[in-house]
Amino acid sequence: MNYISTRNKNNIYSFEEALYEGLSSDGGLLLPENIPHLTYSDLEKMNGSHYIDIAGKIIGLYWEELEYQILKKLLHKSYATFTDKRIVPVEKLEHFYIAELFHGPTLAFKDLAMQFLGTTFEYMNIKTGKYINILGATSGDTGSAAIYSVKGKSRIKVFILYPYNSVSEIQELQMVTHNDQNIDALAIKGSFDDCQYIVKSIFMDDNFKKNYNVVAVNSINWLRILAQIVYYFSIYLTIVKKDEIGKKLNFVVPTGNFGNVFAGYLAKKMGLPIDKLIVATNENDILKIFITKGIYKVKNVKKTYSPSMDITVASNFERYLYYLLDERDNEVAKYMAELRDCSKIIISNELLDKVHEDFLSESTTNSEIIDTISRTFKKDHYIVDPHTACGINAYYKLSSFCKTDTVCLATAHYAKFPEIVEKSIEQKIKYPSVIEELFNKKKNVTILNNDIESVKDYIIGKALN
Ligand SMILES: *Cc1c(COP(=O)(O)O)cnc(C)c1O
Repeated sequence: MNYISTRNKNNIYSFEEALYEGLSSDGGLLLPENIPHLTYSDLEKMNGSHYIDIAGKIIGLYWEELEYQILKKLLHKSYATFTDKRIVPVEKLEHFYIAELFHGPTLAFKDLAMQFLGTTFEYMNIKTGKYINILGATSGDTGSAAIYSVKGKSRIKVFILYPYNSVSEIQELQMVTHNDQNIDALAIKGSFDDCQYIVKSIFMDDNFKKNYNVVAVNSINWLRILAQIVYYFSIYLTIVKKDEIGKKLNFVVPTGNFGNVFAGYLAKKMGLPIDKLIVATNENDILKIFITKGIYKVKNVKKTYSPSMDITVASNFERYLYYLLDERDNEVAKYMAELRDCSKIIISNELLDKVHEDFLSESTTNSEIIDTISRTFKKDHYIVDPHTACGINAYYKLSSFCKTDTVCLATAHYAKFPEIVEKSIEQKIKYPSVIEELFNKKKNVTILNNDIESVKDYIIGKALN
């Protein structure tokens, strides 16, 4: 299957290009040129299958060039790092289901996509003779997931920049406790915005990027979205019995860059019986305002208890806009230019009605996060992390609109955020062994000055080539 740009359908890319490039040269994001459809009878056949088999079926539809047996091997290798052999187990609480997306090596849902991305890069690098250097900036979860995705892999190196002294202790430990030649955690004497600025500047330097094969793995990478479609199917097939296929479910998705929930939207477009996708935001509520009012307006970012959802704009939003506008690429380009020039997009009431066919949204404050963690612990004897709490709170606020069973996606394990969780449940938590082990490991980190040249020089000295 080929991939097209959201801003110009005539700009066409292969799967391989979509994997390595990320963006289209016109600034647009990449989407498959058509969306495969599955029937209820296809779903019935998949019922009872293991996660890996469901993944093989779904991903195979978008990566037809790859032999099925090779895809299965890549999937087995990717998910061998998960501690729960079901990969995404589902719990039933009193009022809703919880799908646990946090059984990967860094205890957050990003592993589900990143582990597959790392394995795929390794395979494609061998096939094409490439060596790549992954570069990224992180305020927490993405960096550790990227690091674990290249651990033990050949022909890939990763450089992750993070703000020195301002990520959480566990997030930092997950990045710096590696002894691998191909992993470099770089603590920058600056803020997260400084880290991001350095990374963006390096990506804008075309010569540098080409000379050192620098690759991004941020949330606009198509393969990450693709890997995330899989668990909507797997969760559905775990909950809905074979003779009930067709019954709809709602999904509540703690949202930042709109990657996770966009994957759910594609699952629905592929024919998975989903009623509403509930976009749960924290106090950074640009998406809630869009979904409720039809106004997408850039705001300054606020620091919250759910840091992985602290965003100014949602980088995957453009992909949704493309479908909302019935695939009229020139209109997407116009809206995106408007966003660039006026920091705002306003859609018609007619389009807003169309948004409401698929989405509902609510936001959650810091104090509601605490209340929700506490309430879920007391009522359901289940501990959730602050991101998942935003989802559960959104569900309670919107439950009168939920006409069918609802699944809340749990995007991180609670032990990643011990301070907030212990404060909410008023007791100490026990760390899972994967975290416990980190405290005894030797730290490997390079501290660099907050400037582009220092980072470039460092990369030049260490890059694979
Ligand atoms: C990244 C992340 C999110 C946000 O996901 P998006 O795909 O950016 O919407 C939510 N929760 C956790 C724990 C995350 O790490």
